Amino acid sequence: MRLLLAEDDPDLSRQMKIFLEDAGYAVDVSLNGEDAHFLGETENYDAIILDLGLPVIDGLSILRKWRDAEISTPVLILTARDGWSEKVSGLDAGADDYVPKPFQIEELLARIRALIRRAAGQSSSELSIRGLTLNSVSSKVTVNGMPVRLTAQEYKLLSYMMHHPGKVISRTELTEHIYNQDFDRDSNTIEVFVTRIRKKINLDIIKTIRGLGYQLVAEEE
Ligand code: CA
Repeated sequence: MRLLLAEDDPDLSRQMKIFLEDAGYAVDVSLNGEDAHFLGETENYDAIILDLGLPVIDGLSILRKWRDAEISTPVLILTARDGWSEKVSGLDAGADDYVPKPFQIEELLARIRALIRRAAGQSSSELSIRGLTLNSVSSKVTVNGMPVRLTAQEYKLLSYMMHHPGKVISRTELTEHIYNQDFDRDSNTIEVFVTRIRKKINLDIIKTIRGLGYQLVAEEE
């Protein structure tokens, strides 16, 4: 899962990036509104964290532009503690949730998980398919109750697939959702990750769809 973090306070954004990466997300950071607007419009994110007080273009204007351009990525806005009118304008402009500053990082993480879950049409933080279970809170993966050790990239890839069961997902799409923009992306590595994941989970659940990509098969065939 990949996030855009638009926050102009350099210390805060640095800290948040570390926490979000530790929690298993690929993260792009924008320190101003122009950059944030551009990235949100051109890259594929699973959720966006948007500070409303950004230089160049303010958060609310960016959000309106995105929604006008029919970009439906879930957006969580960061608001001032007592800014009730900001929260109302933000939600009306198309924000999906808000967190007032200052906040506990755990609350932000929980809200991001919920946003991504809802956007994928999932109601539980524990995703289960045919004995394979992924807990998005603890980042633990099990097969029939037995823990499976995945690397950070393998986890990101499996998490994206488990949020979209049954969907045929191209390598490009997987690449876009597990790496941040600074990463030297190579879609061939996706094949390597999938092979390793298959070996580790030892379940016939990730199907290769020739020429199109991969599909997590929810039903036994
Ligand atoms: Ca700010």
